[in-house]
Amino acid sequence: MRDGRVYRSPLAATGALQISDWVRDDLPDLLWPVLVLSELGTAGARRFLHWQKAVQQDLAGKVELGALAGCLDGRLTNLDRLTTLLPDSHGVVRTRAQEQGLLPESVVGALASYPLRPAKWLVSLDVTPPGQADIDLLARALLEVLSDNHRHAVIKCLQIWSAVQAGTFSTDARTIELLKPYPNDPATRDAADSVVRAAWGAQKSLLLHNDEDYFVPAIRWARAFWGANSMTTRCRRSRDSDADSDDTAEDEVDLPSGHAVPRRSAAPAAMPEEGVHLRQLAMDLLSSYVEALETSPARLYDHERQEVCCGLVVRAGREVITALGAPDFWCMEHGSHIIRVLVESRIYMQWMAQADPSIYRSFQDYGAGKAKLYARIMEELPEDVKRADFREAVKELEDLSHNDSVLNHRVVDTRASFAEGKSIRSMASECGLLDLYRQAYQMASGVAHSEWWSIETHAMERCRNVLHGGHLVPSLSLSSGGNVELARSWVDQLNTLIRLSLRVLETDQNAVANAFGWLDPEPGIEQPDDGADNDDVSSG
Ligand SMILES: [Zn+2]
Repeated sequence: MRDGRVYRSPLAATGALQISDWVRDDLPDLLWPVLVLSELGTAGARRFLHWQKAVQQDLAGKVELGALAGCLDGRLTNLDRLTTLLPDSHGVVRTRAQEQGLLPESVVGALASYPLRPAKWLVSLDVTPPGQADIDLLARALLEVLSDNHRHAVIKCLQIWSAVQAGTFSTDARTIELLKPYPNDPATRDAADSVVRAAWGAQKSLLLHNDEDYFVPAIRWARAFWGANSMTTRCRRSRDSDADSDDTAEDEVDLPSGHAVPRRSAAPAAMPEEGVHLRQLAMDLLSSYVEALETSPARLYDHERQEVCCGLVVRAGREVITALGAPDFWCMEHGSHIIRVLVESRIYMQWMAQADPSIYRSFQDYGAGKAKLYARIMEELPEDVKRADFREAVKELEDLSHNDSVLNHRVVDTRASFAEGKSIRSMASECGLLDLYRQAYQMASGVAHSEWWSIETHAMERCRNVLHGGHLVPSLSLSSGGNVELARSWVDQLNTLIRLSLRVLETDQNAVANAFGWLDPEPGIEQPDDGADNDDVSSG
């Protein structure tokens, strides 16, 4: 569903879909049953039902039944809500929980490690920093509820069971049939799990609809819960697990917070054997290209076309050759600029070939105008920072603007491109390279512009400490690089650019054949002098 330049899926376009994160927002509030079921197993939920029943009987008549049932859904904040409705209900809630074995020592210890938890009165233990046993229980309990969809559903069913026992639950006949034997009928258990989880989300939306502040205490507690975990336990990276198993010696850096970040000295990627020849191949291609140009007749009167074409090729070739010397660049993260330069040069060259020949002059004039602009901007800096080398650099930019020292004639065009602001995408579209632009250039640009997907996949990793809720942390490992296929594709693209340039410049066929005579017809590298489609630039 299109709205201007924004495209929404039909579902998103309804505006009715609210994506929320129950682990982040609600799981801390359900910490009590999460911990208890980790200690007692999922079947321990039965004890919560007995607790609900007993509390409801004890408090019947003192508070409205629906409200009472809603307060017994396992949420800590709802226990506080109950004591607001009925200030002396703590004793009943706690005693009945103890009778049902819902407050074993381990669970009490883990709960007591959070000073800012709701329903603090549920356990009488003073707040104490968590010991290893507490942390182990918390981590195990969270991991279990996150990885076991049935346990997840049972915890969310506490709300339904409480309402059923209070006689305040209503739904359609089919759902009632499904829930009656739950969770004891293996044949319908998965279906009932799904219904329970869905109903829980719908009920949450209803509560929010009736009172937009309903979950404010739960979210306040969730912030405190995750914040406390960040202080009591440290982040875990995948390499931490690797290091545990292979005894790799690491330097540990102690941070002021007491966290320790492992640090490894990283050597540059080794040159892959199959990639050793690529740098030499690219240099040979580039020098044969220059040789072919210099042994052909050149148009020295209108020289801009040859200058621009070979300038673009040589600039791209230098980037490729340099990158081929360092395998660290041979990956998407560090090599995206190479792809951009190769594709951009090809689009420029192919588009200019079908434009009016004056375009080559425009290309140079546009760049000269930019040099003038940059020189002016540099001059804005305060006098006291303009040292001798700085002034020299500004002078060089002024020279490159090819302005006259007396007649100030250089035009500065600040539009997006040399072609009256035409975008590179439009150029690609007009010269038959839109697919190349969309499939190769756009994604490489995403990397260059730090689009989040690129940062996420290249520079971040997910923390493996379950008590941290799955946040992303900076990756301490460098990309391994050394992708020979990628490096070879750069050489192929450079060769394509060279072929295109020789065709645009109508370079003498014999000169080309002589210069590239050394080139074996090896797979992937086309002979520049194969004679095919010489007139048809757009088929390049
Ligand atoms: Zn973490």
